[in-house]
Amino acid sequence: MNYISTRNKNILKSPSQAIIQGISEDGGLFVPEEMPILKESIDQLIGKGYKDLAFTIMKYFFTDFKEEELRNCIDLAYNNKFDSEEIVPIVQRDGAFFLELFHGPTLAFKDMALSILPHLINTALKKLSIDKKILILTATSGDTGKAALEGFSDVDNIKIMVFYPQDGVSQIQKLQMLTHQGDNTSVVGINGNFDDAQNGVKNLFNDNNLKKELSDNNILLSSANSINIGRLVPQIVYYFYGYLNLLENKEIKSGEKINVVVPTGNFGNILAAYYAKSMGLPINKLICASNENNVLTDFFNTGTYDIQRDFKMTSSPSMDILISSNLERLIFEISDREDGLTKELVNDLQVRKKYKISPEMGEKLRDFYGDFAHENQVEKSIAQLFKTSAYLIDTHTSVAYSVYKDYKESTGDKSKTLIASTASPFKFGASVGKALGIKDIKDDFEMLEVLARMSNSDIPENIKDLKGKRIIHKNICQKHEMKSMVEKFIGSGV
Ligand SMILES: *Cc1c(COP(=O)(O)O)cnc(C)c1O
Repeated sequence: MNYISTRNKNILKSPSQAIIQGISEDGGLFVPEEMPILKESIDQLIGKGYKDLAFTIMKYFFTDFKEEELRNCIDLAYNNKFDSEEIVPIVQRDGAFFLELFHGPTLAFKDMALSILPHLINTALKKLSIDKKILILTATSGDTGKAALEGFSDVDNIKIMVFYPQDGVSQIQKLQMLTHQGDNTSVVGINGNFDDAQNGVKNLFNDNNLKKELSDNNILLSSANSINIGRLVPQIVYYFYGYLNLLENKEIKSGEKINVVVPTGNFGNILAAYYAKSMGLPINKLICASNENNVLTDFFNTGTYDIQRDFKMTSSPSMDILISSNLERLIFEISDREDGLTKELVNDLQVRKKYKISPEMGEKLRDFYGDFAHENQVEKSIAQLFKTSAYLIDTHTSVAYSVYKDYKESTGDKSKTLIASTASPFKFGASVGKALGIKDIKDDFEMLEVLARMSNSDIPENIKDLKGKRIIHKNICQKHEMKSMVEKFIGSGV
């Protein structure tokens, strides 16, 4: 199976090529030439462990990988770097099922894909006999950065550079990135928000001068953002895993449809759920939960995607995004895979800052439900769930949980529901503690200790360690200086 660009179906790449390239040369995103349909019945998948299931799903997408190559990538990714043997535990609270995606090394769901992406890229390089170095450019709203650094650190022939919004990430997120060791890494704060960082990185990908300079140095550019299909596909797996868990535990009957609620920013995670549904997973509604940056809520309710509004800084910083890149892949699907139309709409967004889809396209969005949570709801839900169920959730997960409660009340839909729990509450401890009314705390680390005591759990080692670690990355730049930062990093000959 090949991959095509959302903006030009004549651009055709093998899976390995698409993974290495990250983004199509015309600026479009790679999508499968044809969406794979699961040949096995869902019931046949019962009993598979996470890794085996991952192989079953991913083989549909990475068709040029040999079985042992793909299994090897999976083994290297989902090992004891995860603090839970199940990889993704599922916890039932308050009538919903929380799919805990944060048991990897950086305590957010980004680990689910970024622990395997480096191995996919390395295998793809070998398969295509590409004898070049790779430079991974990444924009982060806080969690991708550290997860990518962790995944790509000290991998031969790969350098990684991360751009984050200097004032737009939590203290823990920032410390995780700035203290990161690894000779092949660079972390740069930009004076701007996540959209600026992401636009800047996209522009670098389209900069032919830069590409020439890099190629003169025997370097290829690639991406660790969810625009890379190698990041999206591994995220399909856990929706199957969650469904099968409910099936095995007799919470649902064979074929019964469930709802999925996803706290959304760049639209990668929920798109993976949509892909799972397209492959045949029985999903009823895909509930897209936003924070106060509620562009997607308006889009699902009106058909207009309009970014002319204030960018808000919220307690769920990894979702502080106005331009959700992966929506382009959904637009492509609901336009019946019209590359010309997709290109036109994306262009409207660039030029007019908005676009409107046709009523026919809107019809195809019926599987989705969009809503958002206000900051005070996010806090209230954290406190309520802790009080009623002794279960601590982070701010991002609370956005999803808040939207879920409203959805259930306003629709009366009683379908069993999986809520994507995207980060450990300890990763956003300051906001979680505030929601619980904890006051007079000297710093974030003390807050973590209080939270651990209250919830009768341990502070995850990877966060505890941060205290007292040396800051290694001190670079800051303006939006227009990103290119020269890349050139400096390359020139440093690391
Ligand atoms: C990245 C992130 C999200 C948003 O996921 P998208 O795939 O960008 O929609 C939600 N929660 C957390 C904790 C994240 O790190």
